[in-house]
Parts: sequence; structure tokens; C-alpha cells
Amino acid sequence: MAQIIDGKAEAAKVREEVAIKVKARVAEGLRSPGLAVILVGANPASSIYVNKKGDACVEVGFESQIIRKAKETKQHELEALIDKLNEDDSIDGILVQLPLPEHLSADSLIDRIRADKDVDGFHPYNLGRLAARQPLLRPCTPYGVIRLLRTVFGKKDLKGKDCCIVGASNIVGRPLMLEMLLEGATVTVAHRFTKDLAAQVSRADIVVAAVGKAGLIKGEWIKEGATVIDVGINRLENGHLVGDVEFKEASERAAWITPVPGGVGPMTVAILLRNTLYACEHLH
Ligand code: NAD
Repeated sequence: MAQIIDGKAEAAKVREEVAIKVKARVAEGLRSPGLAVILVGANPASSIYVNKKGDACVEVGFESQIIRKAKETKQHELEALIDKLNEDDSIDGILVQLPLPEHLSADSLIDRIRADKDVDGFHPYNLGRLAARQPLLRPCTPYGVIRLLRTVFGKKDLKGKDCCIVGASNIVGRPLMLEMLLEGATVTVAHRFTKDLAAQVSRADIVVAAVGKAGLIKGEWIKEGATVIDVGINRLENGHLVGDVEFKEASERAAWITPVPGGVGPMTVAILLRNTLYACEHLH
């Protein structure tokens, strides 16, 4: 029976480290880190995530601003807002909550954010730094996954592990591939055109699911003793949140597994705080 990887506990540690450093800064008379979160429209899931980020900022002593814009807001208006925040010396981090309404281009808004304030780590500059093995602001969810894996493997033991990442998005699968390469793992990235997903998953020592389809990854595909990280978040008709992996069946084969909720989700927010503090201390 798999042991649970406790994302809540690990995230609490990261938040605590951040809070201690913020307190020390303030005691020295330095300013608190500042994070601006832009939310366009009223997508219920996005509103919940943004509120969680705002609460987390308050908890660690950041100055946070949640900027809520109507769903009709035009691209050029958001660009002007980002330009203003780029120039604001009290703001260390800017993030645009995704997904955006269809008339907006997320890519060009992310491009507009100054790379040294891109605390989500989505800007092509930060992705390029990661690809060039010189990470700066690391994408939050992928780096959160690495921190969770380190609780299981320690720093060195990811070397040579076979890792199958299912999902190849810019915010999870792709940057996680780069993070896992940095760790010395042998990485396979599966996606919607992968021919035999079961075969790819069943070879892996580490399986990371980041698709957004409940039950896509069958428990019987998991190799005995593997580590399973479930990034997926899916709301069932009964209101329950589940990941992409059949949790119960996978738990019978895996050695370690993350729950949903309480696994990767809390780490994403914790790394966002860490990135904002990093930007404040080292980049500004
Ligand atoms: P996305 O839709 O951008 O990408 C999904 C990926 O899955 C694509 O690369 C696609 O090719 C692949 N895919 C689709 N169907 C597939 C199939 N049948 N077999 C194999 N691959 C398939 O999604 P995303 O933004 O990367 O998010 C993925 C999931 O992770 C969602 O459930 C999202 O809510 C969740 N998520 C969680 C966190 C967190 O903090 N826990 C953060 C980001 C995303």
C-alpha cells in the first residue's frame, strides 16, 4: 500500500521559510515583497485560486494586490496594466490568472510581463533559462513537483530514474520535463497523440499525470513500487475533486502517491511565494 506524499505539510514548510525571511527583512527596515495578481472575469475555479494566493500572501507578510477586471476587458487595457505594474518598484511579482476569456491572448500578456517579475515562471525567458540549465524564476507547479519528489528520494536519487510525464502543456508537462532532466532522470513525455499510454506509464519509476481527465491513468498500469504524482484537478458531478490517476487502484501498486486535493496544489502556491521572495531579494 502506497505511502502518501503530504503536499500540505511540505507546502507549510516552504511558506514558513518564506515567512521567516520576510519577517527578517521587515525587522531590518526593508520592504515586504509585493505580488500583483490579475484576474479577468469571474471563472469560479480561478476566483478560488486567486483568493488562495491572496490569503497565502497575507499569511507570509507580503503586500499583495488582487486586481479584478471585467471579462470584457480588452487586450490593450491589460497590457497597459501590466506596463504599470512592471514599472512599480513595490511590485516584485506579477501574474495573470489563467485561463483567460477567449478574446484575450495569454501568450502575449505573459510576454509583456517583465521576466524578472514573472513569478509564475511562464515567460519564454524563464522557460529558456530552465532549458539552458540556468533556472531563474522556475514554473511553480513543476518545481513544486520536484520538491515533493525530493521528500521521497532526497537530492541525488532521481538520477537515472525512468520518469513518464503525461501531459505536455507549457505550464506543467513541458517545464517539468526540463526540471526532471536537470535532476538526471530519463524522461518520456506522453500527450494526446501518444500511441500506447499504458506501455509508457507502466515502464516508469516516476509517473506524473498532468492532463485534466479523471481516471485517465489506470491503477493497473502503475509499476510495483513506483512513485505517482497527480497534478490533475477534476471536479466530478458529485462535487468531489479527483486527479487523473485512479487513486485507490494505483495506491495498491505504488510505493508513494500524492492525494488530490492536498498534494501538488498547495505546493504550487508555496513556490509562487518562494519565487516572489526570490525576485524581491535577488532580482530587484
Ligand atoms: P492542458 O489542457 O494545457 O494540457 C493537457 C495536456 O494533456 C496536453 O499536453 C494534452 O496533449 C494532454 N492530453 C490530453 N488528453 C490526453 C490523453 N488522452 N492522453 C495523454 N495526454 C493527453 O492542461 P494543464 O493546464 O497542463 O493542466 C493539466 C491538469 O493539471 C488540469 O487538471 C489542471 O487543472 C491541473 N493543474 C493543477 C495544478 C496544481 O497546482 N495542482 C496546476 C496547473 C494545472
